[in-house]
Amino acid sequence: DPVYLNGDFLPLADAGISPLDRGFLYGDGVYEVIPVYSRRAFRIDEHLARLQATLAGIQLSNPLATDDWKAVIAKLIEAAPWDDQSIYLQVTRGADNKRDHAFPPASVPPTAFAFASPLVTTPADVRARGVAAITVPDLRWRRCDLKVISLLANVLARQQAVDQGCAEALLIRDGFMKEGAASNIFIVKDGLLIAPPKTQLMLPGITYDVILELAQQHQQPLEVREISETELRAADEVWMTSSTKEVLAITTLDGEAVGNGKPGPVGERMWQWYQDFKNTVMRKG
Ligand code: PLP
Repeated sequence: DPVYLNGDFLPLADAGISPLDRGFLYGDGVYEVIPVYSRRAFRIDEHLARLQATLAGIQLSNPLATDDWKAVIAKLIEAAPWDDQSIYLQVTRGADNKRDHAFPPASVPPTAFAFASPLVTTPADVRARGVAAITVPDLRWRRCDLKVISLLANVLARQQAVDQGCAEALLIRDGFMKEGAASNIFIVKDGLLIAPPKTQLMLPGITYDVILELAQQHQQPLEVREISETELRAADEVWMTSSTKEVLAITTLDGEAVGNGKPGPVGERMWQWYQDFKNTVMRKG
């Protein structure tokens, strides 16, 4: 299946970029991951809007107009053999002929790359049991709202979780839980759903927005406010959300059971609402 690179569709094996690409040298770039269900990109406008916001946040102009991105994505979806896919997009500040932290001249074009892969979903038995997570200090910078490719702190946090047999690391900054290494986190206490607010210290998840919409639509009691580490540990339910994890219960935190140690009723309902919502919008197209 072809990948997209700087205007061309070509086999992955033929897609080359310069070792001086600033994505490689500095992690100077941005990305998006868009889930595709039954060959339809889910919430594509929202993903492309977040891409645009992140590009603006790092002062890089978008190499493609929204409709051009949509055409690229449509072509990748069509060429791929799977019905459910994950589309990855990346834009970097390109390759100059020398190494210098400051931006290259305007004549240096950004590098734009996109490819499709099969959507990796959570097996039903894992979903039914829930997963284990750990807490770690949030070592990231202070612009976590930007979806940038410099992910070293996220990588190290997630690896720490994996080394301990866990699925996710929850990031604690100044006593508050902001999100996961690659997911947003919600808690439930006494039937109340609580979500951390969108600030510069959290990535505004596309799934996060869907969850808030579904909560409102189904009159699920909801509060958007900071979640302290203490409150996290006392929660009845903790879940992670992302484009690929959808809604996944965390049933063990730092080796302790969350609530009764099983996925809770609010999370189960939310997962079902999410499936219904996905099916409805995908049918409408
Ligand atoms: N937070 C972080 C740090 C992420 O990397 C991601 C992406 O997977 C999310 C949250 C969830 O975002 P989305 O729902 O758009 O996939």
